[in-house]
Amino acid sequence: MKETALRIPVARPVMGEAEARYALDAIRSGWISSIGRYVNEFEGAFAAYCGVKHGVTTSNGTVALHLALRTLGVREDDEVIVPDLTFIAVPNAVHYLRARPVLVDCDPLTWCLDPELVAAKISPRTRGIIAVHSYGGVCDMDAIRRISDANGLFVIEDAAEAHGATYQGRRVGGLADVGIFSFYGNKIITTGEGGMLITNDDLFAERARFLKDHAMSREHRYVHPEVGYNYRMTNVQAAIGLGQLEQIDSFLEARDRIARRYRERLGSLPGITFQEMPTRARGVCWIFSCLIGDDAPVSRDRVIEHLAQNGVETRPFFVSLHDQPPYREPDGYPISSRLARQGLNLPTAVNLSDEELDRVCGLIAALWLPA
Ligand SMILES: *Cc1c(COP(=O)(O)O)cnc(C)c1O
Repeated sequence: MKETALRIPVARPVMGEAEARYALDAIRSGWISSIGRYVNEFEGAFAAYCGVKHGVTTSNGTVALHLALRTLGVREDDEVIVPDLTFIAVPNAVHYLRARPVLVDCDPLTWCLDPELVAAKISPRTRGIIAVHSYGGVCDMDAIRRISDANGLFVIEDAAEAHGATYQGRRVGGLADVGIFSFYGNKIITTGEGGMLITNDDLFAERARFLKDHAMSREHRYVHPEVGYNYRMTNVQAAIGLGQLEQIDSFLEARDRIARRYRERLGSLPGITFQEMPTRARGVCWIFSCLIGDDAPVSRDRVIEHLAQNGVETRPFFVSLHDQPPYREPDGYPISSRLARQGLNLPTAVNLSDEELDRVCGLIAALWLPA
């Protein structure tokens, strides 16, 4: 067999008939830019799915974050608390406003922002917290809310990796002032590129819509009272998103099944551990993640190398923000540093077959056998 036939990618989007039908309909209707019924339908349907009033589509998840921060009034020299282990888009969105991302270490079990460490990082300039539901996990939102309420801070949930996860029976993204999502190709549902901001706050939604469309006055066309952005999603992307959303339950179920099988196959190997959830939270499997502990017989990097040699694509965890050149700091983040060193993402596609998954696990288990 050719190597390409054996290759197992870390992610692959699954497009159904509805996506093709809706996208074709959008194209044939001539409404291919950012006005059209699919934009409105996708915003309404996704907001309803998350249990909130408003959805505001954006061109991607990064600008959804930027737009959320700008709409909340974040300005130069403000500080925003972010977890040290997350995707670079999170501190970047803060940086775009000339504000400062303030890093906080992660919880060793949930791998999300550790609420206990937030208080020590609050200063008179702190404006808010970005709670990232990392790797399909869920933040301890009650603990975060207690701190934000006590200090008058906003909370943005970054649910770009956790569509459909719940906390106390409510979907993530809808638990704080505003939630943001990404619909990038490897996310749980995708529009190719795309994002959304969700909120229950009428005024916030209206202002976000205004800012994402060049801050153009509603009364006077081509009058712009302030500097806005073009952060719009197209009707064709929204059409694809609507088709994807119709399948989200089956996607999440398939991903759950994959996670269960990985846990069964890998859980007995010494040194391998998995993400845990806070009480009454239900995570989702975005990209199956595990830690290869220092007590394992081989290192995380050796596992990556061995799988690559056998046609299996994997990813290491994100590099800690305090180790990124633009945000470099001395290492005061032991948990994040350890997670970044031990964390491994395995192939997780809705259409990953049991045979493919077992092959991945078999290759890993082989490294655990005595030499
Ligand atoms: C993917 C991701 C984003 C950014 O989304 P894009 O659509 O790629 O811009 C933001 N935050 C987190 C946590 C992500 O994983």
